[in-house]
Amino acid sequence: MDRRAFLVSTMGGAGLSLMAATAGMATPFDPFAGVEPIRATPDRIFRTTVCLRPFRAAGPRIEVEEVGRKRVVHNYGHGGSGWSLSWGSAELAVGLAMADGVRDLAVIGAGALGLTAALTAQRAGARVTIYAREQFPHVRSARATGTWSPDSRIAMEKAVDPGFGDRWEAMARTSFAMYQSYLGLAGDPVEWTDRYILSDAPFGEAGRGAAAAPVVERPDDFLRLESRLRDIMPRSVELAPGTHPFRPAHARRNSSLTFNIADLAHQLINDFLIAGGRIVPMEFHAPGELSRLREKAIINCTGYGARALWRDESIVPVRGQIAWLIPQPGATYGAYYGGLAMLARRDGIVVQEVGQDEWFGYGDTNETPDHDAAAASVRQLANFWA
Ligand SMILES: Cc1cc2nc3c(=O)[nH]c(=O)nc-3n(C[C@H](O)[C@H](O)[C@H](O)COP(=O)(O)OP(=O)(O)OC[C@H]3O[C@@H](n4cnc5c(N)ncnc54)[C@H](O)[C@@H]3O)c2cc1C
Repeated sequence: MDRRAFLVSTMGGAGLSLMAATAGMATPFDPFAGVEPIRATPDRIFRTTVCLRPFRAAGPRIEVEEVGRKRVVHNYGHGGSGWSLSWGSAELAVGLAMADGVRDLAVIGAGALGLTAALTAQRAGARVTIYAREQFPHVRSARATGTWSPDSRIAMEKAVDPGFGDRWEAMARTSFAMYQSYLGLAGDPVEWTDRYILSDAPFGEAGRGAAAAPVVERPDDFLRLESRLRDIMPRSVELAPGTHPFRPAHARRNSSLTFNIADLAHQLINDFLIAGGRIVPMEFHAPGELSRLREKAIINCTGYGARALWRDESIVPVRGQIAWLIPQPGATYGAYYGGLAMLARRDGIVVQEVGQDEWFGYGDTNETPDHDAAAASVRQLANFWA
């Protein structure tokens, strides 16, 4: 069905007369502008990437450790929420690092957490050098979905301390506010786009619809906190069968922030360099090697790398693979159906098998792309449309 036919069928007679009355004049309101079908064929895949989420059951590690004569502030272990929580986490870490007036700071790591910590420190008046083994586009942060997901695999219900929920909420609110300042910029580093959750059967209480598998009882489960942000997040609306362009009958829509990471990373790096920051390629093999840095205060933003560097076995990898399809300039939205998620970004259309719950990929260290699985995901994506 083309867009006009779709509008006609969903708007009925009123829509027809409205369209006739406005022919040659104003365009009728199209609530599905930008929701064009994705060209879901494997020949459109231009890369397949794998990333390991640095998950800690107790939540991100943001605390001070004295290493020889250095004050190290850890800022790692943000699971599937690193981009979303980055600014708020940076605020906590920078506060600890600059507590006694330190103005010369080292940041280890140049991913989402390292760049935002470095910028936050600069804005607080510090001189900052980043030391990192990899830089964009080779860091794991470059291989993220790019959506606002502040409580995705962030902690386990039973492992967090009683203050965690409040700290998380403060981090999420700070980040959410900071990302507003990246809206409307050339290159769209951050933008609001729609998300559709699709289901063959009516949505039940669970929210994901009856296409989801039955709930499996687990001994422990991931912490869900997003309801604490209800006052700042746009509401979701249910779309009646026949009123939306997707094949599954039932759909729910809400709006969320999309991070166009290629552009966002460029903006963060440029801002850091313009403010006088330096990035030095360097690898560390043990905490003792930090003694060779001239800075006394160091923020450790090594992400999954902290597992080896800090021998922190509380970090569990949660594998996620993305098949990247060539962007379609008109398509800027996301959709979820039957364990598959799609997000059409400016820098690529992300297609990702996400399973039925957050245990998908848990404990899997395999960072090698599976090209057959990527092609299968893209073929499955075609089922989103008639
Ligand atoms: C598939 C997938 C999708 C995701 N989607 C989202 C999303 O949509 N939204 C969201 O908010 N989050 C998402 N995440 C989570 C997010 O990507 C991570 O939480 C985040 O990237 C972690 O960033 P980081 O800066 O801590 O780590 P990294 O990006 O891994 O950066 C670590 C830095 O430390 C350096 N380093 C590490 N070890 C050493 C060492 N020994 N010596 C020197 N340097 C070192 C590295 O070179 C690098 O520069 C996703 C994750 C995955 C896997």
